[in-house]
Amino acid sequence: MKYSLKTIIILVLMLLLIFNILGCSGENKYEKTVFLMDTKVDITIYGNGMSNKQYVQLANEIENEMKRLESIFSGHIAGSDIKCINEAAGQEPVEVRPETVFVLQKALEVAEISGGAFDPTVAPLLDLWGFKTDEPGVPSQNDLNEALQLVNYKEVEIDETSSTVFLPQPGMKIDLGGIAKGYIVDQGLKIADDSSASALFINAGGDISVAGTKPSGETWKIAIQDPLESQKLTAVLDVGEGSIATSGDYQRFFEVDGEKYHHIIDPKTGYPVVDISSVSILAPDTIMADALSTAVFVSGLQDGMELLEGLDGVEGVMIDKQGKIFASSGLADDLEIVK
Ligand code: ADP
Ligand code: MG
Repeated sequence: MKYSLKTIIILVLMLLLIFNILGCSGENKYEKTVFLMDTKVDITIYGNGMSNKQYVQLANEIENEMKRLESIFSGHIAGSDIKCINEAAGQEPVEVRPETVFVLQKALEVAEISGGAFDPTVAPLLDLWGFKTDEPGVPSQNDLNEALQLVNYKEVEIDETSSTVFLPQPGMKIDLGGIAKGYIVDQGLKIADDSSASALFINAGGDISVAGTKPSGETWKIAIQDPLESQKLTAVLDVGEGSIATSGDYQRFFEVDGEKYHHIIDPKTGYPVVDISSVSILAPDTIMADALSTAVFVSGLQDGMELLEGLDGVEGVMIDKQGKIFASSGLADDLEIVK
């Protein structure tokens, strides 16, 4: 039997249509970008043989879980656990979700090992600087001194059995901006555990986690941006299967009289940390990478490196104000200096 060209074209078009309806994308990669936690979040799913519908569904599930968690940890979303805890400071313990207990406990752990460089009760200081407002500014020393009285992670009372959190002083306030994003990325990644995805990559504004192997078999390489020149790369890190998070002074800052003030605060002085430009941490999970990047940033070059060297499975790269790169001892083979 002979087919005319017209019949063949129609047949091909019909096949393509059926293919489309069944959702066979044929692609082995799917990308979605969403805006969450004040930042751009890229979700990349690799799935050999996954249909388009499966890709879309998985990406939506990941996005929804991340959104759900953001609304628990955010300090400004009405009804969030953190907002409720803060509003009841000095009055009564607040019952919170188990996720909140978990993240707060991790935050207190990092506070402890960093000697208070990381402190989730730093919020009254952040409020004074107004980093999360349209009108940030340098606070008076008097106001800073008053706010400093309210900053002390050791005073946070967590009762695991009743799942409650209490801030004993009125005016005390928690901010999970230095750790929650990492946890949310971890939980986003977990959603894919039972899916048919072969690999997954989530990048929430520099808090990055990867799982599985890329179809090409290549390892995951993450580049660190040059803090002095945003268009340039400074180093490339091989992350294997794990997480990397970066804290930098170049992402969120404001300027007064030529002086730059950024959003990572030393809880001892109340002022933004000055001697480092960026810290990238490699860790088995994003929650630790995120919290430690902030903790090491505040600790400074010497104490920060000491902290890193004392932790198993954690490595880091610090870049000082002059662009000089310092890497922890375990990174020698995995770090490629670009510039
Ligand atoms: P980014 O949010 O830009 O990725 P980080 O992970 O370093 O950067 O987090 C910075 C955030 O951490 C700040 O916006 C603030 O919410 C919070 N923060 C600032 N200073 C401290 C500190 N000393 N300890 C804990 N959290 C902090
Ligand atoms: Mg952080």
